[in-house]
Amino acid sequence: MRVSKFSGFRLVREALRGHRGWTPLWRNPEPQPTYDIVIVGGGGHGLATAYYLAKVFGQTRIAVLEKGWLGSGNVGRNTTIIRSNYLLPGNQPFYEFSMKLWENLEQDLNFNAMVSQRGIINLIHSDAQRDAYRRRGNAMLLSGADARLLSREDLRDLVPFLNYDDARFPIRGGLMQPRAGTARHDGVAWGYARGADALGVDLVQNCEVTGFRTRDGRICGVETSRGPIDAGKVGIAVAGSSGRVMALAGLRLPIESHVLQAFVTEGLKPVIPGVLTFGAGHFYISQSDKGGLVFGGDIDGYNSYAQRGNLPVVEDVVESGMALMPMIGRARLLRSWGGVVDMSMDGSPIIDRTPVDGLYFNGGWCYGGFKATPASGYAFAHLIATGRPHASAAAYRLDRFARGHVIDERGAGAQPNLH
Ligand SMILES: Cc1cc2nc3c(=O)[nH]c(=O)nc-3n(C[C@H](O)[C@H](O)[C@H](O)COP(=O)(O)OP(=O)(O)OC[C@H]3O[C@@H](n4cnc5c(N)ncnc54)[C@H](O)[C@@H]3O)c2cc1C
Repeated sequence: MRVSKFSGFRLVREALRGHRGWTPLWRNPEPQPTYDIVIVGGGGHGLATAYYLAKVFGQTRIAVLEKGWLGSGNVGRNTTIIRSNYLLPGNQPFYEFSMKLWENLEQDLNFNAMVSQRGIINLIHSDAQRDAYRRRGNAMLLSGADARLLSREDLRDLVPFLNYDDARFPIRGGLMQPRAGTARHDGVAWGYARGADALGVDLVQNCEVTGFRTRDGRICGVETSRGPIDAGKVGIAVAGSSGRVMALAGLRLPIESHVLQAFVTEGLKPVIPGVLTFGAGHFYISQSDKGGLVFGGDIDGYNSYAQRGNLPVVEDVVESGMALMPMIGRARLLRSWGGVVDMSMDGSPIIDRTPVDGLYFNGGWCYGGFKATPASGYAFAHLIATGRPHASAAAYRLDRFARGHVIDERGAGAQPNLH
């Protein structure tokens, strides 16, 4: 089956022919008995990894095995924020690399993933926080990213609807990254899936990996719900299921799985220009192109694999929203859902080899892995294809916890709910 090339010309032609010429975005192949490389997990990271393995590293005979349907995990459940406003040297260059890939992603994939660089503002509520954000902004500029420190007056011009005058936590300013923004989350999964499929990658859905097969300490295949599959190399990118899947290989990770919820209101006329984050609590909000206010807050705070959330966190999130912008109280909440996030003990990810030869691990994305999708896929593909870490992800080693070289962006210690 041939993948359609999207273009304005094609759209007009199909419109004149009753749209009967479009083909599905990807094939639905049966799993083959053997592949060179098997990627476990058809989320954003797994699909991006397969795409770059084929496109950049010239690998063939690749399969992505997904236990449900493509994009059924966190890639289709997140609040769509992309940004590269990090502080630490282990993180900032990686996320800036990702931002640069986002900026060219739609051209690269020939797919409209609705990447929208509408800017993010982190609000400042104290002098100490201003110092910390100024330092962060300088670190961003040094890595080639963009950053602007905003005064209270600047903010009043940009986001006049915030509670400036009667607030429990007065707003003193903000740190802005104008190149940050949002992308359509499931569109990103579909774009990478379509791109990988066009390069010959087999995307196998409804195929759960249930075990790993090894010979003399080296990986030689996987057991799946659709039978055994031989593989020269296996890459794991299963996000919230990281602990469970790596346990099948006998490995215990410095990761806990927690539920994170997302909320969407009814559609409103354009009101929020970019992404806003509350600096005195855990709350972030943007407005989708359909008009819904999309927001979220903290994780639910206990270990779980349930893709639904609990009510105390709903209350906590909407309280933060009301403290920041009381007008949100007039909006009706339309939908909410949960996703299972893989919280690492320092809040930073892992992209590394494992003690099993030929088995590679990508995880620990906490609640920030969507923005990392392009760079994570690229760096993981680099590691699997060459055996060496990509320069941007060199700090994301599995043994950093044993060595004490943690990348604790928030300085919060091993407490997932504080990252
Ligand atoms: C509510 C919420 C809001 C978020 N907001 C943001 C945000 O605004 N910005 C941001 O950067 N990040 C955000 N995140 C985090 C981000 O979504 C994740 O870090 C990222 O999507 C994880 O990578 P992924 O896309 O590959 O994961 P997933 O899409 O979860 O992919 C993993 C896949 O592995 C599959 N799988 C699991 N076990 C097996 C198995 N045994 N065999 C085969 N397949 C298996 C799953 O079915 C799943 O499809 C948010 C997360 C949630 C839940």
